[in-house]
Amino acid sequence: MENQGNHGNAKQVARGVYQIEVPTPFSVGPVNIYLVEGVQLTLIDAGPLTEEAWTALNGGLELIGYRMEDIRQVVLTHHHVDHCGLLERVRKLSGARTYAHPLAVPYVELHESFLSFHDQFFLNLYRESGVPDEKLIIIQKFHKLMMTFSERSRIDGLLKHEQPVPHLPEWQVLYTPGHSQSHLSLYRAEDRLMIAGDHIIKHISSNAFIEPPRDQSRSRPLTLVQYRTALQMCADMDIDLVLSGHGDPVTNHRELIMQRLQKNWERTDTLRRLLADGEKTAYELTALLFPTLYEKELPLTLSETLGHIDLLMILHQLEARERGGILTYSL
Ligand SMILES: [Zn+2]
Ligand SMILES: [Zn+2]
Repeated sequence: MENQGNHGNAKQVARGVYQIEVPTPFSVGPVNIYLVEGVQLTLIDAGPLTEEAWTALNGGLELIGYRMEDIRQVVLTHHHVDHCGLLERVRKLSGARTYAHPLAVPYVELHESFLSFHDQFFLNLYRESGVPDEKLIIIQKFHKLMMTFSERSRIDGLLKHEQPVPHLPEWQVLYTPGHSQSHLSLYRAEDRLMIAGDHIIKHISSNAFIEPPRDQSRSRPLTLVQYRTALQMCADMDIDLVLSGHGDPVTNHRELIMQRLQKNWERTDTLRRLLADGEKTAYELTALLFPTLYEKELPLTLSETLGHIDLLMILHQLEARERGGILTYSL
C-alpha cells in the first residue's frame, strides 16, 4: 500500500508497520515517523513542532485508516526536535502514554535548570575548542531552535536496553547511543526488523553529536566512540530491514556499518595530515575539514571534529595542550 494525499504521505513497510513522512525545516529533510499496530497502537517519534509537520502526520494517519485520537502510546527514538517536537500535541489530543530513554527526559521537560546547564556546557566546550567569541552566539541560536521546534511535554515511562516495548511484546528496546545520548532502536526478532531512528541512515552518515553529560560531575561522553560501539552491536545482529528516521530503508546494514566505521579512520588520517604543519584548535581543524559547511553548521561539524580527535586521543596519537582555557592539538 502506498498513499500520497494532499495532506499526507504514508505507506506500509512491514507487517503492522507504517511509515509516515513528515517535513522538517532542517537541512536533513523529511523525518520518518512509524505507526506500529499491536496490543496498543503506537507511534514511534512525533516530528518537529510545525504546522506542516502536524498536518502531514494527521494526514498520514488518515491515509492508513486511523485518527490521532487512536494513538495509545508514543515511543521516542531520541530527543532531537525533528523527532519529539510534536509530542505534546500528540499527547494532548490522544491521551497517549509517552516512553523514552531516561536521558531524553530533561530535553522533553525543558526545565530552566537543565537549559542553563545545557547552554553552559556548550559555552565551555566551544571556548575550549577555540571558537571565537563573536561566534558564541550560535549557542543562543541553538537554544532558540530547541524552544521553537519543540515544546515542553512529559515522559510517562522510561525504557532501557533489552526490555520489551510496553504493549508491543514482539518488540525489544535497544540502547544505541552516540548520535544522541538518549537514542533507542526497536527490534522485532520474528522478522529481523529494526526501527533505528537516526542510528543507521542510508544516504548520510549519522553525526555523533556532542551532548552534555548526565550531570555536572561527569565529563562529556565520547560520542563517536559510543556510536561506533553501538554500530558494532548492530552489525553483530541479524537484521533484514532497517527502518530509519530519515530516508529509505536499509537492507545491507553490515556493509553500511563497515563503510561508516572505515570512514572514521579516513577522517582521522585527514586530521593527522592537517596537524603535520603544527598544532591547531578543534575550531581551526573544523574550518579546514569542512570549509564550506562549518560556519552554517557549527554544532554538527565541531562534533564531527571533536569525535575524531577523541578517537586519536584514545590511541595516544595526539597530544592536547591547554593554554588560557583553549585546547590545542599536535601530533
Ligand atoms: Zn537526531
Ligand atoms: Zn533526525
